[in-house]
Amino acid sequence: MFNVAIDGPAGAGKSTIAKKVAKELDFIYVDTGAMYRSMALYFIRKQVKAAEVDKIITLLPEIHVTIAYENGEQHVYLNGEDVSTLIRNEEVSQMTSSISTIPEVREKLLSLQRNLAKENNVLMDGRDIGTCVLPDAELKIYLTASVEVRAKRRYNEMIEKGMECDLEELEASIKERDYRDMNREIAPLKQAEDAVLLDTSDMNIEEVVNAIIQMVKERA
Ligand code: C5P
Repeated sequence: MFNVAIDGPAGAGKSTIAKKVAKELDFIYVDTGAMYRSMALYFIRKQVKAAEVDKIITLLPEIHVTIAYENGEQHVYLNGEDVSTLIRNEEVSQMTSSISTIPEVREKLLSLQRNLAKENNVLMDGRDIGTCVLPDAELKIYLTASVEVRAKRRYNEMIEKGMECDLEELEASIKERDYRDMNREIAPLKQAEDAVLLDTSDMNIEEVVNAIIQMVKERA
């Protein structure tokens, strides 16, 4: 199998890019953030606070996260319910980055992620894919962009969807999430030693997609 690990901070364009590359190469796109998000949604619904770590750990056996592909798109199921769209909001984003600091939470998703990569050619994106989940991936990319550019991209995306948002708030929230993701004790976001750094601040989507396809072809 050929596995591509894509890591990077929030809003770097990982999912947009990975989806396009996966389509071109006929690989499966695995969005690991969605798996963490669905767990966060479970705790929000149960009105558990991120700080109630013991409670979170006790509830873990009740949670079953699965994924399925429909028309090439990943759908994530929380105890059988398709929550793919419900997990895309700011409350879930912040809760996710808090609960994903808990080792037991990460452990729960690891085998699901590794099995997908064992059985398929995948482009898997997240924060710890190149460093922890798939240390032997054939290609590792660290995708980043300046925080201003990332906030602006998110802003444009939300405005396009007709959602209200504030650019400064978005920037602050991205910074907060990055800080937590990069400074946690377990599986922090960092560039793997053997990852290729792609700073997309001055690149458009097509340029990034083509650069990655080129790298896959060179290594295949
Ligand atoms: O990529 P996305 O924004 O959906 O990820 C949401 C949050 O999930 C991240 O901010 C991070 O805290 C967590 N995450 C993680 N490890 C991954 C993927 C996501 O800790 N592999």
